[in-house]
Amino acid sequence: MSHLLHRNLRRTPPVAVSASGITLRDQQGRSYLDASGGAAVSSLGHGHPEVLAAMHAQMDQLAYAHTSFFTCKAAEELAQRLTGDAPGDLDHVYLVSGGSEAMEAALKLGRQYYVEAGQPARSLLIARRQSYHGNTLGALAIGGNAWRRRPFEPLLMDVPRVAPCFEYRERREGQTSSDYTAALLAELEQCILAHGPHSIIGFVAETMVGATAGAVPPTFGYFRGVRKLCDQYGILLILDEVMCGMGRTGTLYAFEQEGVLPDLVVLGKGLGAGYQPIGAVLARAHIAQRLRDGSGAFQHGHTYMGHPVAAAAALAVQKVIQRDNLLGAVATRGATLRRLLRQAFGDHPHVGDIRGRGLLMALELVQERSSKTPFDPALALHALVKDAAMACGLLVYPMGGTIDGQRGDHILLAPPFIVTDSELADITERLGDALKAALTRAEK
Ligand code: PLP
Repeated sequence: MSHLLHRNLRRTPPVAVSASGITLRDQQGRSYLDASGGAAVSSLGHGHPEVLAAMHAQMDQLAYAHTSFFTCKAAEELAQRLTGDAPGDLDHVYLVSGGSEAMEAALKLGRQYYVEAGQPARSLLIARRQSYHGNTLGALAIGGNAWRRRPFEPLLMDVPRVAPCFEYRERREGQTSSDYTAALLAELEQCILAHGPHSIIGFVAETMVGATAGAVPPTFGYFRGVRKLCDQYGILLILDEVMCGMGRTGTLYAFEQEGVLPDLVVLGKGLGAGYQPIGAVLARAHIAQRLRDGSGAFQHGHTYMGHPVAAAAALAVQKVIQRDNLLGAVATRGATLRRLLRQAFGDHPHVGDIRGRGLLMALELVQERSSKTPFDPALALHALVKDAAMACGLLVYPMGGTIDGQRGDHILLAPPFIVTDSELADITERLGDALKAALTRAEK
């Protein structure tokens, strides 16, 4: 019996023993193509020698120093790099150990920003339905999936929610994309007015929705409109780029493609690319300035924040991405993946949508294409595809999102940036086999 409290208490997963490039191997000698980069994490693949060397060097020199006594070179250099590569005045970084921790820090930074300004009545965060921001209590409260929140509801703060920007599912027939976008912005404005701008800290959204709805890019102009409303009503724009940031969609930060500057940006996953647990919040100058002029401290902290080895790993990852022009590779390989998926599944009767940007792509699975009817949630088709894919030696990230009470199945693909064209072809072929096997099982 395993003494680990696994995610699934009824089934112990295979034991992973080694990995290199885009391949993982288990104790039974089976190998798997990592087409999901874990959970959109492993942007450089596994066992990258330069990242390992940077971590070893850091461990030899300094493995840990508590941040109430010291800062360290690796954390300083990482912060310099992340802010230097960020547009505008996003010039401060708060380093933590993962995405949820980073989201908590962003929410508290937002709250303290207004407390320091003598506006303690600001306590609300507006978020979106069908969103995911992490599993700690604050991040969970913000997230849009009711089924995730339900068991913990009494422990969670109240969060007003507006519609996600999800054209495939929510744009009405006959409605143009710009009318749809305008309607979403009108709903957000109404929400701000209904609660009163002076009670609101900010609006929280994933720049590109990751796992919950499956690689959903925003419509043209949506975030520009959101930024305008945030400015108009004096509330913060907090963008969650835990999944879509750090190059995954072809630019270092996904919001760069939207032509907006958020006040706070939440990072994780690809920041450490799986080599170390690390997350971060980027903050604009006015946020840091207000805390500096006010109490002089951010009232927050974790024992492992600013960890030297985690920072050294993240720094090495960023250096490799830049030196090897991996953002360019994300664009070209992303285009190849999109083409392959369209060729293989464009006419598939149960693939309703193929979407995404860069190397964050998804297939939405439907019972019937023209009506977009989802499969019966009891089938958990996404989980069947995951199992079938593993049997075909392929890792894909499955999710059943909640669409206003209905569930939809989608399969997320987020291969490492170093993936080759022939590996992408192999991934697409295995995915086809897995889908076939899963649909056959579902029909039984
Ligand atoms: N935000 C988004 C968009 C995510 O996709 C995730 C994780 O999947 C998180 C936050 C939480 O990150 P972590 O799992 O590192 O706590």
